[in-house]
Amino acid sequence: MDCIFCKIAAGEIPCDRVYEDENVLAFRDIHPQAPVHVLIVPKKHMKNALECDPGTAQAVLHALKEVAKSEGVSESGFRAVTNCGPDGAQSVEHLHFHVLGGAQLSGRMG
Ligand code: AMP
Repeated sequence: MDCIFCKIAAGEIPCDRVYEDENVLAFRDIHPQAPVHVLIVPKKHMKNALECDPGTAQAVLHALKEVAKSEGVSESGFRAVTNCGPDGAQSVEHLHFHVLGGAQLSGRMG
């Protein structure tokens, strides 16, 4: 399958990795929109949140806590968001969660 995040998860395309475990990889977004902008990506391919199983959701939440700690935003706060489908502005069709922080974020969500 020609999926860029599958290739990153397989180590075929380099990334700036910040967290990894058996199920999940987290790496810095190539076009950061905040001082901290990390993508949490399940290693298993799934298109978006609608295809996410409970085990993957649990693994992503665990990774989110680890990333928040290691990026130093646990106390200051952050936003975690997943874009889904065309109206959600999803550009990579492999489930991923954006973790944004390190500065005061806008209250606007759309
Ligand atoms: P979305 O628009 O929600 O699908 O988010 C996809 C994100 O992936 C964007 O923020 C891109 O900047 C990011 N991205 C695309 N290719 C790469 C890459 N090779 N390494 C890191 N981030 C990437």
